[in-house]
Order: sequence, then structure tokens, then C-alpha cells
Amino acid sequence: MKLKKTPMRFQRLKGTRDILPEEIGKWQAAEAVIHQVMARFGFSEIRTPIFEETELFARGIGQLTDIVSKEMYTFADRGDKSLTLRPELTAGVVRAYIENNLGKKQPVNKLYYLGPTFRQENPQAGRLRQFHQFGAEIFGSPDPAADVEAITLSIGIYRAFQLDRFVVKLNSVGDAVCREPYKNTLREYLRPRLNHLCQTCQQRFEKNPLRILDCKEESCRGETAAAPKLFESLCADCSRHFARVRELLTAAGITYDLDFRLVRGLDYYTRTAYEIVSDQLGAQDALCGGGRYDLLVEELGGAPTPAVGFAAGVERLMMVLEKIAWQPALKPAPAVFMAPLGEAATAWAVQIAQQLRLQGLAVEMDLLSRGLKAQLREANRQQARFAVIVGDNELQNQHATVRDLPNSLQSEVAFADLISYLQQSMQSRGS
Ligand SMILES: [Zn+2]
Ligand SMILES: [Zn+2]
Repeated sequence: MKLKKTPMRFQRLKGTRDILPEEIGKWQAAEAVIHQVMARFGFSEIRTPIFEETELFARGIGQLTDIVSKEMYTFADRGDKSLTLRPELTAGVVRAYIENNLGKKQPVNKLYYLGPTFRQENPQAGRLRQFHQFGAEIFGSPDPAADVEAITLSIGIYRAFQLDRFVVKLNSVGDAVCREPYKNTLREYLRPRLNHLCQTCQQRFEKNPLRILDCKEESCRGETAAAPKLFESLCADCSRHFARVRELLTAAGITYDLDFRLVRGLDYYTRTAYEIVSDQLGAQDALCGGGRYDLLVEELGGAPTPAVGFAAGVERLMMVLEKIAWQPALKPAPAVFMAPLGEAATAWAVQIAQQLRLQGLAVEMDLLSRGLKAQLREANRQQARFAVIVGDNELQNQHATVRDLPNSLQSEVAFADLISYLQQSMQSRGS
């Protein structure tokens, strides 16, 4: 017996989503704003591959982080090389910076990125398995002005969306000189309180006590509330750097809150750490996070290069934009809807549509060989300005019927004049 093949119905994978035509206008407009502001700040876009060697992320993000230990999409290719879909973009950008010798081409490189990233997390609001990030990196400057440039850039982007209800949280995580002594001070402070810390924090105590400060558990936050603060224990150089960053932020008119809990768990992070938090997101989640990472380029095999940057989630941004009802300019309504009736007219319409589009007009065409009534209904639904109606009669007379849809006016236009007629009509209404 021959088995009947049942058609499969596929579904998108958990944690992924389709961005549909009805919402793509908002995405494209948001991306355009990001590109514009980045350009205004003098940053150049860099596009790196979606997948890289697994080792790059293990080193660049840190073997012990949740991202690397639990969340990466890692697979062997056919040559049995271990590859990973990028869970963030900084590691790839640093790899590209080193590999392409960008540091030799100019003293300071200001790069930005925008693209998809992948983490196998449990999906929840604003957290997908394929999500998007944008961010920027400044390579080559140890100067506090670079830290402030990164912070003002990220703020500039949110302001360009008319977002103003956000808070900048600022901290300094010091450097190799002052961080180790501080860790010991912190351990001494926490040792008598160890039993009151959560399981995770008890494990962090030896290896990574800084992370205890940003634990979300109430009990841990209580125990660390009065702990000695790293930004009060900085060495002279870090202290000067931090003071200058604060001074320049004030000069730039940016207010900030010092937040001693803002620590980054990895050794290559140095000095400035910051986050932009929006009270419009509900949770304590940040819109954007960044800071200085003077030791990462070296960690990934490059020459010692100071660097500072930030990364931000596009989906988070879209959620906030939804809440403030941000209205970008959406896809313009078509100038012309070609409404041919019959095969010969369709062949003619395809050619005219092509010419009008080359002239810069947005043109739509019926793709279902529908009758006149249905085509005009569609043209009105799309808010087209003109419908160009051509059937056998019109072909014979070499005249098209041009219908001014919003005004319900109709005129006969000779084929020879049609393109200039439509162009002029669109120009005269200023579009
Ligand atoms: Zn804890
Ligand atoms: Zn220091």
C-alpha cells in the first residue's frame, strides 16, 4: 500500500519570532535612527560573521559566565571544528579589529554594530533566543573623554527616540592594581556574613566576590548594603580617571547615580562601568550596559589596546518605544497602483511600473489578475494616490484611465504622456 504523504506544518522555534510586514516599518525606522546617531558621533559600522570559533567566545566572554557555560548555540561543523552562533558582538568585533590591523590604520577606531545574536535562554518578555543587539566600541584611547563619548552616544540614541525617562548608573571597577586588594577587603567584610548569603553567592565568595554585590536576592542585598565600596577604594590612577569621567559627564549635562552594585564579573573590565535603566521597562533590566575593557584586546591576542564600549538590546528598545507610542514615518503609501485588466494590459503595466519605479515613484501592482472593482478596493486599502486602469479599450486607444483616488476624479491620459503626467502630479503635491 502506498503511504499518503501528509503535508508538514512547520512552526518557528521556541524563542524566535517573525517580524511581519505590519511591524517592519518600526524596525527599519528604529534602525535608521541608530545608524544616523552613530554617524553623527563619527562611528563606522562593522559587520562581523554570525558564527565564530567557540574558543573566541569562551575567552572573550569568560568560561565561567552563564552565557558561555549554559546559553551558547555551539555545534561542530562538518570538519569537526567547534563553532558558536554569536551570543554578543564585542568578541567578534575585537577579533576583527586585531585580525585586520585596524589599530595600525588610525590611532582611535570608533566602530558600531547592529545585528542578530543567539542565546539559549528561557524565553520571557523581551528575551528571545534569537535577538538583536546594537552597540559601539572605541579602541585606542585610555582617556576619560572616550568613556564619556561612549556614554553620551548611548544616551544620544535613546534621546533621538524622544526617550527621557532613564537613569544613568555609574561605577568604577578599578584595575588590576586596586581590584585585588579590594576583593580581600570585601571578603573580610563578608566572611562573618557568609551564612546569610545565597548558595550562588557562597560559591562566588572565593573566586568572584564582586558578583555578590549585584546578586538580586534580598538577603544578599541586605548583607552587602553597607559593604565597603570599590569606587571608594580605587588606586590613585583609577581614582583620577573616575573623577574626570564624572566631571566630563557633568560638563555634558548628564546626570548619573553612583551604583556600587554595578560590577562586571570579568578581569578584563577596567574602570568605568555604566548602565542605562528605564523605569518604563518595569523590571530592573537595563536598556544598555557598557564600560571600559582595557585588557580584552590583549586577552584575545592583540597588542595592549585600551577600549570602551556598550551593548544594547534592540527588542528592549522596541518594547519601550511601544510604551511611549513612538510613531516613525512608516512605508509611504504607493503613488501609483497599476490596475491592468487582461493579459495584454498586464504586459503593458509591468513595463510602465518598471519605468515609474526607476523614476523614483512607489508603485504597486495587482498580482492576482483581479477584476476592476477588487483592484480599486485594494488600491484604496493601500492608500494609493492614483490608480492607472488599462483594459483592451485603453490599449486600443493608447490612453490610460488615471483615477485620482482620494478625490474620486478620473482623467484620460495618452500613453505617451502618462509617465510625465504622474510624475508632475506627484511633485505638485510635494512628495
Ligand atoms: Zn546571592
Ligand atoms: Zn586602580
